[in-house]
Amino acid sequence: MALTAAGIDNARFEARLLLAEAAGLSVAQLIAHGTDAAPPAVAATLRGLAARRVGREPMAYILGEREFWGLPFKVSPAVLVPRPDSETLIEAALALLADRTKPWRMVDLGTGSGCLLLTLLREFPNASGVGMDASADALAVAQANAGALGVAGRAELVLGDWRQPGWAERLGGPFDLVVSNPPYIEVGAIDGLMAEVSRFEPRLALDGGPDGLVAYRTIAAEAANLVTKGGRLLVEIGQGQMPEITSIFASAGLAVEASFKDLGGIPRVMSAKY
Ligand code: GLN
Repeated sequence: MALTAAGIDNARFEARLLLAEAAGLSVAQLIAHGTDAAPPAVAATLRGLAARRVGREPMAYILGEREFWGLPFKVSPAVLVPRPDSETLIEAALALLADRTKPWRMVDLGTGSGCLLLTLLREFPNASGVGMDASADALAVAQANAGALGVAGRAELVLGDWRQPGWAERLGGPFDLVVSNPPYIEVGAIDGLMAEVSRFEPRLALDGGPDGLVAYRTIAAEAANLVTKGGRLLVEIGQGQMPEITSIFASAGLAVEASFKDLGGIPRVMSAKY
């Protein structure tokens, strides 16, 4: 079938999700309908969805949703698709901030769908946080997620761009916890990534500049405006970047504590104290 011919790994699984989407049913309902013939309108919708997937559009954009930390997140092409690797940052926060009941103040730099900040607000019921993004379209997605997840009252989603001077002062910090999954791909490597990423995901969320590390230097330079004394910074990092990112944050006066590995065993999150 078309998805298999296009070289898509989980073709049967994805086909079932696309059919459920086209039919407006859950996968469980779809299975219950067994071998019913699909109405012509559903078949036509399915052909359209399958054509998008054959063109390598990510499933999350076609379905408009992706699960992260067991929570449903709305997504659009304005935001990076939430990835299981990024759940490592949530695990790290839960391990390091032992008291879940404290009114921690948090900030998420480049919040995108809001998956990091909003998940943390669910896990820390008295925390509040700011989510900054340079894309108004991304913020609209994050705002919708904040509402749907019931944390809108504790989340302030603000337009901000770390390429503009003064961005960090305007956030109202410093904060007890700073988190970020910044763009960390070397710009020259983006076109070599899988087509789903290179052709569909926002460049703003991927492009880390010539060496992939530009965003970390920008964040580190604003440590005093971002992190309280004794507060913590947790950043997602790319494969092999731990030594350089450690020295970037150490030079800015942070004490790098640990790295946390993703499911593939790759150091994926760096934690540091200020
Ligand atoms: N983890 C993403 C990827 O490998 C990159 C996300 C990012 O730059 N923060 O495609």
